[in-house]
Amino acid sequence: MSDEKKLSGGSVRRQWTTEENQRLIDLWHSTGSIALISLLMDRNAASIQTQASRINLPQRNEDGMNHRRRWSTDDEVRLFEIIDSLERIDIKAVARQFDRSTDAIVSKIVDRYGKNSPILSRIDTNVTVSSRNLVSGPGPGTRLCLSCRKPFHSSGKKHRICPTCTTNNKEKLDDYGYF
Ligand SMILES: [Zn+2]
Repeated sequence: MSDEKKLSGGSVRRQWTTEENQRLIDLWHSTGSIALISLLMDRNAASIQTQASRINLPQRNEDGMNHRRRWSTDDEVRLFEIIDSLERIDIKAVARQFDRSTDAIVSKIVDRYGKNSPILSRIDTNVTVSSRNLVSGPGPGTRLCLSCRKPFHSSGKKHRICPTCTTNNKEKLDDYGYF
């Protein structure tokens, strides 16, 4: 509790630890669902979204239309049959099967079972926080910042400094009058 700060509005703002940032990056890539990440990390969706853009995670653009499309009764029945029968729920596979975003599936599950349902713990996010999630080739992926060693989303092998350090470095240079 000591690292929590009560704000005047009564909401609690917690600092993001390195571990949490790593977990956010992993979940971002593995679940693709802000609703689910929000539940798993016990932070609200806005906080997840804000932090994701702060550490430069790629925009997610699949959750516009898919998310709002109405569910037919048949689809709902079929979804809950599947959910009820699965011991481990591969959320991405289920989303693919219904041609919906993972967010849409998670929202549906939460609507029906509530956000504290044990069902949610059966969702398989394939997440292990470890270095094997770091990208090894030249392409985009998670890399450790060469300056602060924290994980961040890198756009390619030449992008090795996280946005926070990039900003800080620029401010230092500004102070010295380089710009
Ligand atoms: Zn850094």
